[in-house]
Amino acid sequence: MTTVDSKSVVSDAAQRDAFGPVASQAKADGASIEHGRSKCSVPLSVFALTSDGHLASRKPVAAVATSCAEGSASLSLGWDAMPAYPSLVLGVPTLDGRTLFAGCVLTSHEVRDDGIHCEINRGGIGEIILTEEARIPTLNTEFFQYRLPCDDSVYDSWLRAGILKRTVLDRVLVCGKCRSVATFRFACRQCGSGRVAQKMLAHHFACAFVAPASEFETAETLKCPNCRTKHLVAGTDFEYMPGDNECDVCGWSDRELEQTGHCLNCDSRFAAHKAVEQELVGYHVERLASLADIADLGRSRVTAAGHVPA
Ligand SMILES: [Zn+2]
Ligand SMILES: [Zn+2]
Ligand SMILES: [Zn+2]
Repeated sequence: MTTVDSKSVVSDAAQRDAFGPVASQAKADGASIEHGRSKCSVPLSVFALTSDGHLASRKPVAAVATSCAEGSASLSLGWDAMPAYPSLVLGVPTLDGRTLFAGCVLTSHEVRDDGIHCEINRGGIGEIILTEEARIPTLNTEFFQYRLPCDDSVYDSWLRAGILKRTVLDRVLVCGKCRSVATFRFACRQCGSGRVAQKMLAHHFACAFVAPASEFETAETLKCPNCRTKHLVAGTDFEYMPGDNECDVCGWSDRELEQTGHCLNCDSRFAAHKAVEQELVGYHVERLASLADIADLGRSRVTAAGHVPA
């Protein structure tokens, strides 16, 4: 889904109506290069951003790019379409129905007979929010929480406008109290300590006696404490078997340990089944590599429409 609907991809006739001779003249010139800028006539959408990155309006205004270079461009807008804030996001439609986005800042504007002429440079808060660093959560090493740099409401406004797409990147188990990341270990079921050791048992085949291996050990030989047979050979006369786990802290002893979490932020310990599963959500966007590409996208459109490309 894109917000740049058919309304922003205006027809040639509509462009002349909305933007007057500037747009149509640029079209007639094709994509000639002037002062290092490619002249063009490419319809696109413009979203204005508040200083904290929220979209000022969910609906973009239609504009036409009249020239572009790698880091700057000129736009022609209708008289009533002046952006409310200087920070912008441009949405440039592609032939295959996608929209590529770029963050820009309005550097100057001029009201002319045929509408408003704006100069823009790439950059601003829109461009920052479009970077991967602002769209993929990272682990905050102070609180050990996965966080995104902007408020949720910023991403929500971009989502509703169709610029960003929500993506579940992973799932992590976090502390139920503070939602921070935890470490996990197999621990004592009674006190949660990881200081547990498994005792080894010995099983004498001849008399079927089983006891802690330490009870078979004497100064000179291995001897069954039950039937008193000496010189036992491991594998032939007896076998070692895993026994209970014993906790060094509380003395608890049991066969099974429990997977236990320890929160890196609030230090609480909890059974792993009480951890909270958190979705790590990031946002996907298709970015415009260079503002100079706007002219190329316009050229493809002319070619696809059956005209001879410039
Ligand atoms: Zn314990
Ligand atoms: Zn024995
Ligand atoms: Zn915690």
